[in-house]
Amino acid sequence: VTACLDRIKATEPQVKALITVLGEEALKQAEAMDEAGPRADKPLWGVPLVLKDLLAAKGTRTTCASKILDDFVPFYDATAVSKLRDAGAIIIGKANMDEFAMGSSTENSAYFQTRNPWDTDRVPGGSSGGSAATVAAGQCFAALGTDTGGSIRTPASFCGIVGLKPTYGRISRFGLIAYGSSLDQIGPMTRSVEDAARVLQVMAGHDPKDSTSVEIEVPDYLAALGRENLEGVTIGLPKEYWGEGLDEEVEVSLKAAVAKMEALGAKTVPVSLGLTDYAIATYYIIAMAEASSNLSRFDGVRFGHRNTEAEELIDMYTSSRTEGFGDEVQRRIIMGTYVLSSGYYDAYYNKAAKVRRLLREDFEKAFEQCDLIAGPVLPTTAFKVGDKVDPLQMYLIDIFTISANLAGLPGMSLPVGLGKTSAMPVGLQLMGPAFSEAEMLSVAECLE
Ligand code: GLN
Repeated sequence: VTACLDRIKATEPQVKALITVLGEEALKQAEAMDEAGPRADKPLWGVPLVLKDLLAAKGTRTTCASKILDDFVPFYDATAVSKLRDAGAIIIGKANMDEFAMGSSTENSAYFQTRNPWDTDRVPGGSSGGSAATVAAGQCFAALGTDTGGSIRTPASFCGIVGLKPTYGRISRFGLIAYGSSLDQIGPMTRSVEDAARVLQVMAGHDPKDSTSVEIEVPDYLAALGRENLEGVTIGLPKEYWGEGLDEEVEVSLKAAVAKMEALGAKTVPVSLGLTDYAIATYYIIAMAEASSNLSRFDGVRFGHRNTEAEELIDMYTSSRTEGFGDEVQRRIIMGTYVLSSGYYDAYYNKAAKVRRLLREDFEKAFEQCDLIAGPVLPTTAFKVGDKVDPLQMYLIDIFTISANLAGLPGMSLPVGLGKTSAMPVGLQLMGPAFSEAEMLSVAECLE
């Protein structure tokens, strides 16, 4: 804990990954643990971790990087957080993010811009950008992120760390402040595949407080590691992910990673995810619709910021929300409300729900031919802060990450080298059938 706090002190002025640092509290816990002595039954005994600031931590400010939750202090722990504490982890900070997890660069935080530790002129990716930057800067041993459409994998790829979005339902979402409830998943962001396995092991499993968490056995993720080669593994390469639009430096690094998989004995086969062109439209309709509904609870009455000058109730709602939410969040509430409104529901929301099911079938067909899918996480490496001003341009970079969320499948980003031109990290994405995390982790570890 002392080493991490020192590292935070040395790097935070440049990186700005954390909204809250829990220095004293963390030190006190560490001292008590030192006194108690080691506990072999607690797999994360004394390990300093950071949480994305939309995960409820009892008694700790939890802002979602939004002015509307500026002074929100939850009186309970998210289930994932309480499981980590039970395993002995020490929470040392809460990480910056895009407001309500809406974004891909952490430029939508209401507080400040987190920088990429590899090059502080560049973004760390988003929306879990603070979580990725804190791990990459060596401020902690692991961080939690959440992924609705790529928010773990994107910043992991941009910052050169491991990020895993588990199968929908693998980890309880209780205490995760919802963005798109049918898409959101919590996951580990770590420096190695083994660390990701350790953290996932602790968090996975059914929780009666989240009816969408699934009641199936949690495998031993650590036991799955340590394979010597990839013989017997078939990797599908979707042609829609390996064509046009991919930056050359990304393509070169990724092709080298695929060649390495082949050299390790994996068989690669071409597969097709034919609906990829429709994934962005489908995702943004569903995510915005769910967001507009989830965010209706922030009305100035029960949580967060309240405008005290309004005389009528309706004006109080309107001004509290206008003052409390940033531009991107307001844009999404408006669009989400629109696609759900009567007369447009069938044309947009319902249509998107149907395409979503077809997209899932695309994956099922692909997984008849292969064990895992490999492709890019993003078309580019980390871009410069302020480079993407058009929100649509920002939405488009999610093209390779959102399908896993729409289909509910696990996906991970594994660092596979630096791009030749930008000298920034490139991430390889692995995706698998539902609950194939053990297989994914073991293949990823073999490639490390
Ligand atoms: N960039 C996507 C969005 O803004 C994904 C965000 C996320 O996964 N939370 O919706």
